[in-house]
Amino acid sequence: MAISAENSKNPGFVTRLALRYARLHGEHLLKPLINTEFTQEIALVSSFGADSVVLLHMVSRISPATPVIFLNTNKHFTETLTYRHDLVKLLGLRDVRDIEPDLREVSRLDGDGRLHVKNYDACCNLRKVRPLERAVTGFEARITGRKRFQSQGRGLTETIGWAGDHVAINPLAGWTAEDLKSYILKYDLPRHPLVARGFASIGCAPCTTIVHSGEGVRAGRWRNHEKTECGIHASPADKPVRNASLEY
Ligand code: SF4
Repeated sequence: MAISAENSKNPGFVTRLALRYARLHGEHLLKPLINTEFTQEIALVSSFGADSVVLLHMVSRISPATPVIFLNTNKHFTETLTYRHDLVKLLGLRDVRDIEPDLREVSRLDGDGRLHVKNYDACCNLRKVRPLERAVTGFEARITGRKRFQSQGRGLTETIGWAGDHVAINPLAGWTAEDLKSYILKYDLPRHPLVARGFASIGCAPCTTIVHSGEGVRAGRWRNHEKTECGIHASPADKPVRNASLEY
């Protein structure tokens, strides 16, 4: 019987799920979770960034109708939007949802479009955290691309855990940069075009710079600022930006 036949809010649910599946990773982990445990109730959250093609490809092989949530902050690089379009077509993904920030909130809080200059956390709350909370309502579990090697804060990422009120599935938690590269080469998958220009991690254009030799892969995100995460993948090791005030 599927573990998720029980309510995911039951005490110990995630522990039982992890006991059964956390030794698996990649497609071997995703297959039973998508096909058996969380049918219709699981979504992949994808930035269509530097490594996103790996999970998108896995999901397309298992079930191309799996919902994919793309947070269109309206601050992305043009290259990201083009890549998103081309990749969806190439992989045959059938349920990609472009989630935008609430226009009334944007008008009230970021009328001049420069909130990111004044307050990163408030901007991420407005353009990422709150839209995602709305988008995942109704889902039990969300799949993310977090990897332990990416940063100190992500070093504790569990394969199966909690993200807010949802079960968090991190199929690539234990993968290395080499694992990702090998997978992409094996299936001859297209990389985000900015990777070739030195962008090792790709988020919104105003908050992303290229990464230099010897730097961590996420060093180009919010460069020269203590912020390291946008706040959509809450974990015990992350800075608690989820409650950052929308006002500034
Ligand atoms: S990454 Fe930058 S532009 Fe994007 S939502 Fe966060 S602060 Fe705003």
